[in-house]
This record gives sequence, C-alpha cells and structure tokens, in this order.
Amino acid sequence: MPIYRIAIRAQLENVTNLEATGDDFQYCLRIKCNGCNEEADKWQFISADEQIKMPGSQGSTNFLIKCKICRKTNSVDVLLKEKKSYTTTDVPNFKDIIAFECRGITITSFKFGEGWQCRGTESSTLFTDLSLEEDWYDYDEEANCSVGISEIEYKVN
Ligand SMILES: [Zn+2]
Repeated sequence: MPIYRIAIRAQLENVTNLEATGDDFQYCLRIKCNGCNEEADKWQFISADEQIKMPGSQGSTNFLIKCKICRKTNSVDVLLKEKKSYTTTDVPNFKDIIAFECRGITITSFKFGEGWQCRGTESSTLFTDLSLEEDWYDYDEEANCSVGISEIEYKVN
C-alpha cells in the first residue's frame, strides 16, 4: 500500500524538537480519490487516536471516507512509528516527520494547523499548543531570549 510522508522545514530561533503533540494529534490533509481522481473539497482531520471498523473485515483504520463521486470506500492510517521531531540540526533541510498509509487515496496537501510543541535550546521550557498557521514568536523567560519558528514549509513525498 502506498505510503505518503510529510516533510517539513523551518527556521528555528532558540527552540528545537518541533513536533506534533500526542497520539491524538489531528493531522490536517487534503486528499484525492484514486478511483475517480476527484479531490475532496474539504480539509480532512486524521488522528492515530481514531479507530474505525473497516466494513467487511476484522480490522480497523484511523480514517474512512466514501467517495461522493465513485462511491469507493478509501482509508488512511497514521504510521506513528514514523513520527519524528524537527530539531536544530535539521535546519535548513527538509525532514520527514510523519507518514500515512493510504488505501485508494493520494495525499495532495497538508496544513500545519494547531497543537504543535517545541522546547527551548537554552532552557527546559516547553512551549505547547502552538499554532503554525503563520510564524510563531514568544519569549523564553528562563533563558531570557526570544524564540520563534518561521519560514515553515512542507512537502508531500
Ligand atoms: Zn472517487
């Protein structure tokens, strides 16, 4: 089954270990049905925490969708073992941070959304619940320095 990987890169200012927080993180993806090539008109939220029974099988999946055009049932699983954090040593390169196993679906776009975390490079400060819809800036009280994440980009591989 095809596996799609999301690679990201960003400029990190006095922070490291940028990652999606928790197994219940909601990955925001735009997907296309391989049966009819139709792109879904909405962003889909996919979480490793969701368990949906597969019709006609004993197994379960993280995300199930029936295509409105060709009526095919497609599914996606989050491969949590592929989850990685983006660190200062990764800058300025792209790094795969998560992978998805897709049945009948192509991932076309990714949105950072909310629920990210990182920690100070000069302190033990943990910054949580970050929104990466745009650049993020804050101040690390313990290290007495400004912190930030900017120029964030992604690629679907
Ligand atoms: Zn379809």
